[in-house]
Amino acid sequence: MMIKVDEPKRADNSYDLVIIGSGASGATLAQKLASSGISILILERGEHLPVESENWSPREVFIKDRYKADENWTDRKGKKFQPNIHYWVGGNTIFYGAALYRFRKGDFEETIHYGGNTSPPWPISYTDLAPYYTEAENLWQVHGNRGADPTDDTKAPPYTYAPLKHDPEIARIKSHLTMQGLQPFEMPIAVERNVKDPLNSPCIRCRTCGGFPCLREAKSDGRKMVNRAMKFDNVELLSGAKVTRLHTNTSGTDITHVEYIKNGETCKVRGDVVVLAAGAINSAALLLASANDKHQSGLANGSDQVGRNYMFHTASATLSFAWPRVETSFPKTMAINDFYWGDPDGEFDFPMGHIQLLEYMNGDVLRGQLSGIMPYWLIPKFIADAIGQRLIPFLVMTEDLPEARNRVRLRQDGSIQLDYWHNNLVAHKRLIKRFHQVMHKAGRMCHCLEGHRAQMDGILPLYGTAHQCGTLRMGKDPADSVVNANGKAHQIENLYVVDTSVFVSSSAVNPALTAIANSLRVADIIKAECFT
Ligand SMILES: Cc1cc2nc3c(=O)[nH]c(=O)nc-3n(C[C@H](O)[C@H](O)[C@H](O)COP(=O)(O)OP(=O)(O)OC[C@H]3O[C@@H](n4cnc5c(N)ncnc54)[C@H](O)[C@@H]3O)c2cc1C
Ligand code: SF4
Repeated sequence: MMIKVDEPKRADNSYDLVIIGSGASGATLAQKLASSGISILILERGEHLPVESENWSPREVFIKDRYKADENWTDRKGKKFQPNIHYWVGGNTIFYGAALYRFRKGDFEETIHYGGNTSPPWPISYTDLAPYYTEAENLWQVHGNRGADPTDDTKAPPYTYAPLKHDPEIARIKSHLTMQGLQPFEMPIAVERNVKDPLNSPCIRCRTCGGFPCLREAKSDGRKMVNRAMKFDNVELLSGAKVTRLHTNTSGTDITHVEYIKNGETCKVRGDVVVLAAGAINSAALLLASANDKHQSGLANGSDQVGRNYMFHTASATLSFAWPRVETSFPKTMAINDFYWGDPDGEFDFPMGHIQLLEYMNGDVLRGQLSGIMPYWLIPKFIADAIGQRLIPFLVMTEDLPEARNRVRLRQDGSIQLDYWHNNLVAHKRLIKRFHQVMHKAGRMCHCLEGHRAQMDGILPLYGTAHQCGTLRMGKDPADSVVNANGKAHQIENLYVVDTSVFVSSSAVNPALTAIANSLRVADIIKAECFT
């Protein structure tokens, strides 16, 4: 149980390290550095999420948006939208689907996509991150089957935690895809599931996982990392503290103060080192909002890259419908990477992407998801439930490529504007088409898939900010990047960034494990560079 504090405990408001944000990256960094003895203050704009029965209510979560940030952003055409973002201690990981993938080795290298577009190389390689991926998988209790994913690093150590079993329907789909020569594999999932002794397992494989907080504290999330960090006296957390500005010295080389608003009051703290972990969109927005005489277009923005290269995956939900009821509770256990680097039929030699199962589709979840198209009350709940029970939902993801024009800006009133143009759509459409083909073929062979000929797809709109990344990219050249390979801002001596904003490319798999692994890596760097 964490004690809530209203102000920093240190009389001089001065810390060795101030971390902004307590999500995947910020919380991981705090727990890694907690035992070092340095004084750490975590500033988090969100409060502690109430543990209440509504945590598992599809109606409260998906229709009433009980836990989503009550914020409106603006798209490039001036239209307002509510982003899929959550401000709580633990960040977006409280609601995430817990699918924790490594990026592939090739994701860190330059890759040519269809149409000659390029996914640029990172200044670090997969090998640099590999030991931290292993550390991250153990820390976040990832269950998986090393070597089953045809594109994964087969030389990495086996997962410590055994893969989750497939529900019978999913196992059947898997065997029929395997008969077609594909290699569907067990998804790496970060939950505390006792596979050998399910009766004594914290995770009960319920139907309200991805998109919901876990009432049994069995999902590996940022809250757990914060709790671990808070066991050390040198770590403090200030929740409900929204950071609004970073102040520098007069020469603009160092951050002197971090300004935040708590309970309506503007306050300041000092950190010898400041780490930005507010998520890709808010971290960029904060640097833009911190413009001063020495950094007129935003802090650390000499390259004019702050806020640019926004990515969030070219993703579509494919709802596969069957007449018979589909008996699953936790379907999100299988994924397909056979099309990751190209079409195995040899006719499309460009990256296409990744396919994974999604969570169980409760009728209210479906109504909530469709609310952008029609008001939820137009779909009666019993009809939505009946449809939901007959759906197997998949997420089809293609890498979206960094483009300077896809960017986070601040409007005159200080609110966020997201300019975005979709890209890589040819590869994405081909992936969807090929996926439909294999499902149709499986449907002809597999009773449970009879009728799986009707697939509905919808590309993820701008509000789907879940996989946001790329807005403060890492690079060797200060002329075209914001932070260096160590995560340190090129232009500010004591500012590091660890969240997904530093991603140079987005890959086609989920981002959180890479943010976590990179945060563990940067923690080692900060310790060596600043505190030895
Ligand atoms: C519904 C959903 C499902 C997802 N499923 C998956 C999945 O299965 N696998 C996967 O890999 N990824 C998934 N993601 C994405 C994953 O959650 C993110 O990639 C990950 O949380 C990013 O970590 P982060 O540290 O960059 O940011 P976050 O985890 O978003 O943390 C940022 C933190 O900073 C705080 N903050 C923001 N602004 C300020 C400020 N000005 N002052 C103080 N604090 C601030 C926020 O409140 C938040 O706590 C999902 C996301 C969502 C929303
Ligand atoms: S019990 Fe398991 S399946 Fe249910 S929300 Fe928690 S981690 Fe997810």
